[in-house]
Amino acid sequence: MDITKVSLKELRKALDDKEISAAELAEEYIGRIKTADAEVESYITVTEEQAKIAAEQAQKLIDDNKAQPLTGIPLAIKDNICTDGIRTTCASKMLENFVPPYNATVIEKLNGQGYVLLGKTSMDEFAMGGSTQTAAFSKTKNPYDTGRVPGGSSGGSAAAVSAGLAPAALGSDTGGSIRQPSSFCGVTGLKPTYGRVSRYGLIAFASSLDQIGPIANSAEDCGILLNAVAGRDEHDATSAGVPVEDFNAKIGQSIKGMKIALPREFFGDSTDDEVKQAVTAAAKEYEKLGAELVDCSMSSLKYAVAAYYLISGAEAASNLSRFDGIKYGLRGEGRSFDEMIRDSRSRGFGAEVKRRILLGNYALSSGYYDAYYRKALALKQQIIKEYNDIYAQADVILTPTAPTVAYRIGEQETDPVKMYLADICTVTVNIASLPAISLPCGYNADGMPIGMSLVGKRFDEATLIQTADAYQRNFTVMPNKFRA
Ligand code: GLN
Repeated sequence: MDITKVSLKELRKALDDKEISAAELAEEYIGRIKTADAEVESYITVTEEQAKIAAEQAQKLIDDNKAQPLTGIPLAIKDNICTDGIRTTCASKMLENFVPPYNATVIEKLNGQGYVLLGKTSMDEFAMGGSTQTAAFSKTKNPYDTGRVPGGSSGGSAAAVSAGLAPAALGSDTGGSIRQPSSFCGVTGLKPTYGRVSRYGLIAFASSLDQIGPIANSAEDCGILLNAVAGRDEHDATSAGVPVEDFNAKIGQSIKGMKIALPREFFGDSTDDEVKQAVTAAAKEYEKLGAELVDCSMSSLKYAVAAYYLISGAEAASNLSRFDGIKYGLRGEGRSFDEMIRDSRSRGFGAEVKRRILLGNYALSSGYYDAYYRKALALKQQIIKEYNDIYAQADVILTPTAPTVAYRIGEQETDPVKMYLADICTVTVNIASLPAISLPCGYNADGMPIGMSLVGKRFDEATLIQTADAYQRNFTVMPNKFRA
């Protein structure tokens, strides 16, 4: 069995049929990581020893016929999700040696199934960025072309799945960080509805926007992970009390008559032609499958990036004030309390994180609050309203995931404004608390993957998975050199 070519369901079956043991499966992945990750740099920490122990425990469950969908399945976890006793760095010097004394709720849930942790994946520092090049260590490369960025901020998780260094992974998404790297690396990533998955133990970036979600090889695999981690959690007051259904229940149901809306503004001048063409061709495929395409408009899209950076910056500025060198994290030097805090933060944070803190505090300061932050909140209401108007006449929305394919390292990520504008296709989804899934829909002339996004109604992840799966049945993934 080539482990890089099978689905999670097939891995489950191979484990249950004793074709492979949990230990052998984990070893195969660790072996692959040892050979390929020097080049991809998708992991910050590889947990070989823990994986061995977890695999043994999983094997007992399998042998006792007590296996659940993820028992013995190896997974990679983004390094901003707290893992008890395992270093969790946020790819920041600030947390380089931080070992959490507790597990995030999603980790508790995965442990409950007996999953096997392969390691912690790289990301933009504190999840701020779209290239994984702001990481203080492990600046991940794109498996389709290691001269290019993997996207971000969950670039490590997306690249690990894309290169076959994990069968699936968890990422987090504040303004596109699951979807955009999934698009750049040619894999499938699902950002759940805000509140669907507990944020307890996710190191906070912007609390009203952050959401943990799966990155995998297919919509169905994403559904298996979401089934495992979703649900109300008493540790997170913003987690929703909405019942958790089987997110894969609608797979295979016909999409005949489904109304798919295409908001014009997403197909404007800021989106590359090759991307527009691929997404438009995918829309035609949906039409062939019986869906009805609906032309629509989202006129506030032009303000969305500004609103997102004000809201997320403001929340980041307050969330990151906890890193003062006292309770945890890097401890600087100084003769006074203030000097020590200043030194800790100056040395602990990278340039992009500092920029966000400055932007956020500026937007919240008394003279500017009304001019910036309050306006951003008004825009949030407008964006929500426009989505509601579209959903009055459609079931799902189809857009590009990013305006371009993955760009070359050094080309764009050094220009902050350019970077921010590249988030245009993803940020409104977080602002409106909606679920969305990105899946590959083509490749450009250089063989770089192109992604499209399906955006759903709140808590309607099942329809997104059904719709994405319907497309994936007829779509052939082009493998990269790491899994050819
Ligand atoms: N690229 C966006 C940003 O830099 C999104 C990041 C994210 O979703 N964590 O803020």
